[in-house]
Amino acid sequence: MYPTPSVHSTALDPATKPLVQVEHLTRVIATRAQRTIILDDVSFSILPHSLFAINGPSGSGKSTLLNMLTGIDRPTGGKVIFAGGRHVGIVFQFFQLIPTLTALENVLLALELGGGGGLPRGQWRRRALSCLELVGLAEYPRRLPSELSGGQQQRVAIARALANDPSVLVADEPTGNLDSKTAHQVFDTLAGLVERGKTVIYVTHDRELAARANTRIELLDGRIVAQQGAVAMTEVAR
Ligand code: ADP
Ligand code: MG
Repeated sequence: MYPTPSVHSTALDPATKPLVQVEHLTRVIATRAQRTIILDDVSFSILPHSLFAINGPSGSGKSTLLNMLTGIDRPTGGKVIFAGGRHVGIVFQFFQLIPTLTALENVLLALELGGGGGLPRGQWRRRALSCLELVGLAEYPRRLPSELSGGQQQRVAIARALANDPSVLVADEPTGNLDSKTAHQVFDTLAGLVERGKTVIYVTHDRELAARANTRIELLDGRIVAQQGAVAMTEVAR
């Protein structure tokens, strides 16, 4: 029997195969007047069951990079390889909840749109409730977003991202609109998901929060200028 993988042992185990491999990723935006390099030869890999932070100041290319990981945007050069297929849930800075739907209905809507994550319709409600429970909101399924605090709204958004049971959760500045204490609580919620087997890719301009992730890269002007964590530092052997 192997022990349950923990955040730290997994990240430091050199035998673990990466879940995501980013190789020589480049994104160039060309207009008639100029050619702007937004991402410049970015390579790294992300281990399963890790919390991976992408850090860097505003304009450094974090969202552009994340949009390549989710498939929202396509690279000019290089590639993103997902082991076992790209199945991601997305969390946004401004929550993007439907204001007229309750917390539970917001999660149910994701099940509706995502095909129920392989579950028959009769089990969707229970599944949505368990997602809310996972983020600490079991008591508020009937609240509207306006009846919840910012941190609670973001947790509903995390529950919604979990609805279809993705292996990877991608969050673009999910704490960017929250006060520091709440930001750390939402970070804790995301870190807790790693212990439940998810891989979380967390984008933030906040150095202090990024430093709490076991692996991270720091971007500046579209390049990796610093990295931390076993896999981020080594070139992946093939
Ligand atoms: P971050 O998320 O780190 O703030 P972005 O990835 O949003 O950074 O943007 C990186 C840089 O690329 C910025 O200078 C931004 O202005 C520029 N950029 C992003 N998207 C476009 C676009 N579609 N056209 C022109 N410039 C863009
Ligand atoms: Mg951004």
